[in-house]
Amino acid sequence: MIDPWSSAILNYEKLIEEFGIKPFHDLLGDLENPHILMSRGVIFGHRDYGRIVKAMREKNNFAVVTGMMPSGKMHIGHKMVVDQLIWYQEKGAEIYIPIADMESYSARGIDFPEAKRIAIDEYISNYIALGLDPDNENLHIYLQSENKTVGDLAYKLAKKVNLNEMKAIYGFSGSTNIAHLYTPLIQVADILHPQLEELGGPKPTVVPVGPDQDPHIRLTRDIAERFGSQFNFISPSSTYHRFITGLTGGKMSSSKPKTAIFLSDSPEIAEKKLKSAKTGGRESLSQQEEMGGVPEDCVVYEMLLYHLLQSDVKLKETYQQCREGSVMCGECKAKAAEMIKDFFKDLEMKREKAKDKAKSILN
Ligand code: SF4
Repeated sequence: MIDPWSSAILNYEKLIEEFGIKPFHDLLGDLENPHILMSRGVIFGHRDYGRIVKAMREKNNFAVVTGMMPSGKMHIGHKMVVDQLIWYQEKGAEIYIPIADMESYSARGIDFPEAKRIAIDEYISNYIALGLDPDNENLHIYLQSENKTVGDLAYKLAKKVNLNEMKAIYGFSGSTNIAHLYTPLIQVADILHPQLEELGGPKPTVVPVGPDQDPHIRLTRDIAERFGSQFNFISPSSTYHRFITGLTGGKMSSSKPKTAIFLSDSPEIAEKKLKSAKTGGRESLSQQEEMGGVPEDCVVYEMLLYHLLQSDVKLKETYQQCREGSVMCGECKAKAAEMIKDFFKDLEMKREKAKDKAKSILN
């Protein structure tokens, strides 16, 4: 069972085999200018993404839905979803960003006003600073607790879901509070509501997620089918991205500050954190010269691959130099740390400018 509130899933191949997620690289050739997260294999799997490829190719309407749970700080791993949203925005998608204040209330005990503040200061400001266009008419950001269309739909959909099913999917027990039990239904409604008649009717919809969120996707797809005759929903598609490794190995997590570079860190702190990250280097310089490093086990290399190096040629060069032992970790880290510092300087400035806009979106 995959638990979307706590699991750390690292065996991606197993997921593809066991849960019927399809490999993403099979579709790469059909995509015009795929995002680097796609071409570099960070997005590794999908369900029914062919529908989205077709909609983009034929310039038909399609939607992207991805929520944010306002419960803590955004770390650099969260940037991956924003990068995808920016790419989809350029492709003409209708973008829906639910702010899961109901989930953060039921699962983490955060009150609605505090969730709203976190959403504005931590999330929406960063989304805009990273490049999402807040003035695009196809962008819809909303608080779950204030969206009546979503609330009403969730209630209707809940009619065809029973307690045993929720227990089997999420591992809920007799002591799970009812609010927590209900929030997955709100998320299902978040994903399906762009297909309601008043929002343009059925359309292909994609949800970019980490694999830990697959239970929500499977439930949503099942429910879409159950209500097929009433709403004519098209079963939503999904893509799955790898998690970014934390600075100490393992998973990067906002609740474990030592593992994470937060987007609100100062450029100097981000630089320092990257310099302290675990690498795939050898024990001594002579060993590294002789055997080369292991970029596959290196957090610094991962940062370059996910976020810092846009050029495939330069990335390949770094990989080869590391493998050959012609570059040592000290030099390599120093270059990457400089890049992250510059990136954070720019982000800090843009985030400051974005704050008023972020506030106006929810007020
Ligand atoms: S040389 Fe660079 S990529 Fe290779 S292990 Fe060291 S830090 Fe990582």
